[in-house]
Amino acid sequence: MTTPKAVRCPICDRPMPGGRADYPDFPFCCRRCRLVDLGRWLGEDYRVPGREVEDDRSTPDTDH
Ligand SMILES: [Zn+2]
Repeated sequence: MTTPKAVRCPICDRPMPGGRADYPDFPFCCRRCRLVDLGRWLGEDYRVPGREVEDDRSTPDTDH
């Protein structure tokens, strides 16, 4: 199947053949992705624990 203009969900990168008519939450593939995007804007998502540790290391800001 070849779609000239493949639309993909900006969150999970899942291909969405058919266009917005098939997806009530367009441009997201589902409601969940829509909420994820909303969380991004609110800054309450995308907290990577591993990175927090790295930040702690590179920032010489120890109180004790
Ligand atoms: Zn998605």
